[in-house]
Order: sequence, then C-alpha cells, then structure tokens
Amino acid sequence: MNTAWHVLGAGSLGTLWACRLARAGQPVQLLLRDREHLASYRAAGGLSLSEPGHTQTYSIDAQTLIDDGPIQRLLLACKAYDAEAAIRSVLPRLAANAELVLLQNGLGSQQAVAALAPHARCIFASSTEGAFRHGPWQATFAGHGHTWLGDSLDLTPAPWLNELQAAGISHEWSVDILSRLWRKLALNCAINPLTVLYDCRNGGLTAHPCEVATLCAELSDLLHCCGQPEAAYQLHEDVLKVIAATAANYSSMHQDVTQRRRTEIDYLLGYACAAATRHACPTPHLHALHAGLRQCLQAHGLPAGRV
Ligand code: NAP
Repeated sequence: MNTAWHVLGAGSLGTLWACRLARAGQPVQLLLRDREHLASYRAAGGLSLSEPGHTQTYSIDAQTLIDDGPIQRLLLACKAYDAEAAIRSVLPRLAANAELVLLQNGLGSQQAVAALAPHARCIFASSTEGAFRHGPWQATFAGHGHTWLGDSLDLTPAPWLNELQAAGISHEWSVDILSRLWRKLALNCAINPLTVLYDCRNGGLTAHPCEVATLCAELSDLLHCCGQPEAAYQLHEDVLKVIAATAANYSSMHQDVTQRRRTEIDYLLGYACAAATRHACPTPHLHALHAGLRQCLQAHGLPAGRV
C-alpha cells in the first residue's frame, strides 16, 4: 500500500488534488477542522469535482486534525495566512521523516511552516492550475496548468512524482523553486494590487504604463538584492505579456476583494516590501502601492495585513 496523502484544506486546490489522486487509486485522507466539518462532509457524501462536461463525487476518507495516527505525507492546501496555525494543529501527528507539500502562493508562509516542523522535508509548490469553490465540498477545475515542486535544501526529486503522473497532475521537479516563487510573486505585485486600486480588469493596466514600468524596475532591483537575478530576467516584458494575455480577466486579488474575501497581501506585496526594507533596497513606489492597497482593503472592511 502506498503512503497516504493527507490533504489539509478541502477548498479549491485541495479538492482538485484529492479527487485526482483518489481516482488514480492513491490512498487519500482529508483532514478537516473539527467534528462539525466532518459531519457536514459526510452528509454531502464526499468531494465533488466539476470538470468540462462532467461532475463526479468522490467518497474520500476524512478525519479531524486531532484524530489519531501518524502523518507521513501532508499536502497543505490552505491559504498562506492559515498555514502556520494549520501545521501547529497537526505537529504532534507528523512522523519523524514527514514530507510536507506546500501549495501556498507567495512567500513567507513556507518558511514559517518549515521553522515549525524542522524535522520534516518541506517541498514548495508553484502552480498555474486554476480551481474555485462553487459550494461546500464542491470545486470546479477552471484552468489546466502546471505545478513546479522543489526543495531548496535537498535537490533530490521527491520519490512519489510517479503518483502525480498517474493522477494526471501535470508537474515538474524544479531545482530552483525559490526563483519560480519569487518570479510569480513579482508578477503578482506588478499587476494584482493595481487592478484592485483602479478597480479594473488586467487589461485596464494598459492605461497606466508608467506605473507598471516603475514597479517592474523596483521589483527587478529587489530580486537582485535578494539574490534572485534569474527571477528578474525580462520581468517588465513578461508583465506586459501577462497583461495582454489576460486582459479580459479580473486578477485573483481583485476577485477576493469584490467577493469580500481576505487577501494574501502579507505573502505577496507585504513580503516584497519587508524584503526590500531588510535589504535596504530603495523601492518607494512599491511601498506606496502597499500603503494604498492596505488603505483600500481597510475601506472594504477586509484585513489590511501587517505594515
Ligand atoms: P481555498 O479554496 O480557500 O481553500 C482553503 C481550504 O483550507 C478551505 O477549505 C479552508 O477551510 C481550509 N483550511 C484552512 N485552515 C484550515 C485548518 N486549520 N484545518 C482544516 N482546513 C483548513 O483556497 P485555495 O484557492 O485552494 O488556495 C490554497 C492556496 O493555493 C492559496 O495560497 C492560493 O493562493 C494557492 N493557489 C490557488 C489556486 C486556485 O486556483 N485556487 C491556484 C494557484 C495557487 P474553511 O473554508 O473552513 O476556512
């Protein structure tokens, strides 16, 4: 019997991963917050995944975070701001050589988790797949993409990549996962906050070329200061390409704000600004953007993140 995939966070990505692994015959165990969530999940009969043309429900085993039993492999599929608390609650269950796969966007939460579980191998992931929840225990697979996985402390590929292959999860082992995460963070910082402040689709940023260019220049300097020159390569060109290719879309942060959901600001723009301060890297426009975004979130009654 293969090692079980414990999936903590039965939201959009957690459902997407759990359902694909389960239907490929991998043992999957969902970790739910408490008995109430467990009862609600059991009443629903499982997790439903909608894909183009069909919806299927998978009766995946579930238990609460504080149930018994060691956890050897954990897929952490919660938001970045929930990651530390989530790991704390399962710490007593983690096996001595546990592996944690961290799906969180941005940076900062992965390092916090790794500090909490120093005995575990932490594998960071960066994904371009898209999924959203359309009801309790229901998710829609909205955009096919690819997931890069890597461990900056141990470049040896994880031994279970063949299980992802069998589950149809498009993936690749990355020997420079931090560079990928930084690049994604920089793209996000150059686009998402501005779409919130201007209340526009990504394409609306073509009306603000100087602001985008200035942010890209500062982000590029910051990446160099942080020892990530590859993540800075042609950043501005790439940002313009993303804006053009996704012109009709609302950014994920814009969607969070319009749907009154907490954003991951501390792990994106907040993380970039904190790194700039730490490295004494001058990024006045990035800091002004952070202050403007915090103000805007507060005005919407949403958590504004750390200063
Ligand atoms: P999501 O839909 O909000 O799902 C997160 C899930 O984690 C929720 O079901 C939440 O439960 C659960 N959770 C949080 N803390 C928990 C705890 N202590 N115990 C048990 N469950 C807990 O989030 P998501 O969209 O899947 O995003 C997860 C991460 O992946 C984020 O960092 C996101 O930026 C990244 N990402 C997402 C996508 C995407 O398309 N969705 C794509 C790329 C990257 P409650 O609902 O009860 O809070």
